[in-house]
Amino acid sequence: MAKATKQSDRVQTLERIIAHLDTQYEQGIACTHPDTGVLVSDGEYDALRRELQTLNPQSTLFETATASQLESAVAKVVHHPPLTSIEKASHEDLAVQQQMLFKWLRGADAPAVAEAPAGELFADALPDDLITVAGMSYDGQPVVYSPDRFYAAYKLDGVAIALYYEQGKLVRAGLRPRDGINGEDVTAQVRYVAGVPEKLPKKITCSIRGELICKLSDFEKVQAELADEGEKLRANPRNHTAGGIRQFKNPEKTARMRISFIAYTIEALDHPPYKTEIERARWCQETLGINYIEPQPFRFENLQAMEDAVPTLDFEVDGVVIGVNTLEDQEQLGRHGDPRTGNPKGKIAWKFREEEATPVIRDIQWQTGRTGKIVAVAIFDPVRLAGTNVTRATLHNAGFMLRNQITIGSTIAVRKAGKIIPKVTGVIAGQGEPQFPDHCPACKAKTQLQQGGTEEMLELVCPNPDCSAQNVHGLCHYLSTFGVVGLGESRVRTMVEGGKVATHADFYRLDLDDAMECGLTERQSLLALAAIHMIPAPDKKENNELGIAIATARQTKKQVPLWQLFAAFGIEAAGKSAGKALEDHFSSFDAIRAATVQQLIEVGDVGEKTAETVSSYLATNAAAIDDLLNYVEPQSPKTGLLTGKNFCFSGGFPEGKRHWEQRVEELGGKCSGSVSKKTHYLVAGTASGSKSEKAEKLGIPIIDTDDLQKMIQAMSDPTG
Ligand SMILES: [Zn+2]
Repeated sequence: MAKATKQSDRVQTLERIIAHLDTQYEQGIACTHPDTGVLVSDGEYDALRRELQTLNPQSTLFETATASQLESAVAKVVHHPPLTSIEKASHEDLAVQQQMLFKWLRGADAPAVAEAPAGELFADALPDDLITVAGMSYDGQPVVYSPDRFYAAYKLDGVAIALYYEQGKLVRAGLRPRDGINGEDVTAQVRYVAGVPEKLPKKITCSIRGELICKLSDFEKVQAELADEGEKLRANPRNHTAGGIRQFKNPEKTARMRISFIAYTIEALDHPPYKTEIERARWCQETLGINYIEPQPFRFENLQAMEDAVPTLDFEVDGVVIGVNTLEDQEQLGRHGDPRTGNPKGKIAWKFREEEATPVIRDIQWQTGRTGKIVAVAIFDPVRLAGTNVTRATLHNAGFMLRNQITIGSTIAVRKAGKIIPKVTGVIAGQGEPQFPDHCPACKAKTQLQQGGTEEMLELVCPNPDCSAQNVHGLCHYLSTFGVVGLGESRVRTMVEGGKVATHADFYRLDLDDAMECGLTERQSLLALAAIHMIPAPDKKENNELGIAIATARQTKKQVPLWQLFAAFGIEAAGKSAGKALEDHFSSFDAIRAATVQQLIEVGDVGEKTAETVSSYLATNAAAIDDLLNYVEPQSPKTGLLTGKNFCFSGGFPEGKRHWEQRVEELGGKCSGSVSKKTHYLVAGTASGSKSEKAEKLGIPIIDTDDLQKMIQAMSDPTG
């Protein structure tokens, strides 16, 4: 009895943990254990599911593809046929994982092999058209399979989606839901995803299914942009994609997320011109022009080669899908569980090994960032993980270190799969009370432990507003926001440490003598000043010429866009997008400074916490801002005849493109470098190529500069 109770307790616990993890996964946030807050790896997650499967195969949790408890209020797309998942061959013990695959291979093979009574297949001699897996056995027999029966393709670590086309036109798109049927409607968002055509080259009606991903090369750009804007970085491409496609309030925001689509199947197409998975892939790529995950004939020994090739890919993969190549045979095998929504028996997902190393922490480095957070990085002797040498990994935050009792000398578990960033998943031995530095590594101010957004987010911070590390980073951020180049962190540090620069305004007061007193040579000083005043091509100018240009620049106030000035302050969680939202709403810097927290909250895109941070920053730094306004002049967006109109200029113009863009901006219009649905007019010069095509597709009027002139005249004189 006691044993039964214990077992049912464990079942409940497992169901609770899995549901929690599935919910986080669907939300696109880091998957952490609900009780300990420690990151849970894919392998550990699979082990939890297997344990539940053993203890209670009837668990309701297995009835749906995911146990996510996310109740999404957004509109739903009904998937037909249902958008299901794939059973996994996954185990921390490779031999066990191989047995899972061999069992599946035997069952899914051609009837002559699959249905042969045990032993009979091998009674005399092996049928010579079968492939034998050397040195392996399953169920006491050699492992064999039919040569043309199976295919293999990479399994992308993305967000599953189904696109619906009618008569060749994209009509609906929905994400994969837990029940496989009612998926979140992302029709508006998917139009901003690369590789999703609005129109197919053929007037067919079908559903194209695949994965939304953020390519690794794009993910790097996303992270750089977020860092630039002072926004929080994303944990990994998959989480970024899951969040990026769910822009239900502002679908056009998906455009900035750099998400791509790659197909893995086509469903519900009448009279398909293909009979196998491999033919379907080729047809989709060649005839429809849609990227498809390339399938190849399955050979067991190629699995390792595919895993070895992962570092050459531009996207994250977590394994290989193996399936029956002929579609009709696949169909005949049916599904696990529900005949409609169950996972297909004709496919299995082979998971790549998640590699784990258990190094001993030799040192912990502390570094103060721009916002005052002090982050810890564990340093250890090099360990080999998924093809790379790893010597350091972030320890997340103080809360993580406290919960796991991580300190120098602790043996930690570091995991890495494929190209995924190595992560510390726990501590194995040598637990000890973490030692947090009492003083900021940069300014020596007394540090504080501060509660972050959630309980797990306990953080170590430097509370000193004049902290040199924060200040140097903050000053660099200020310059880079305006596009200043040629004045890096070390130069700024020299000036801060030389006592010449402490505030933004100090940059504009700095003169040649000041810079040289910091220890720079005359040339270095001139180049630094030229950078601050954004004098073009300073390295091509002689010292004399530079001196004159700097002197001239110092006499005039710098005109800067209002949003840019705001973003340059580097207020936490208030970057470019907040700056633009505030600019749109208030139109002047004075109005932003005068706004109450409540008025700031009323601006779309600005949350309560951000509003409070902004308000307190502006109040605390009022004197420094007044000082700065002696040197820079925030430019509010102009209002005029063209306010609310978006233009895009394309091609060559005798007067130069900038001339026309300025003309439009002076009249309150906006110019952008690319054509989108928001563009009102494309102004075409000579040889305006792809942008004209795109405008035509979107039905956007294409005009020339004569038309633009006439438009402006007509607007300024409505009676004429
Ligand atoms: Zn400090």
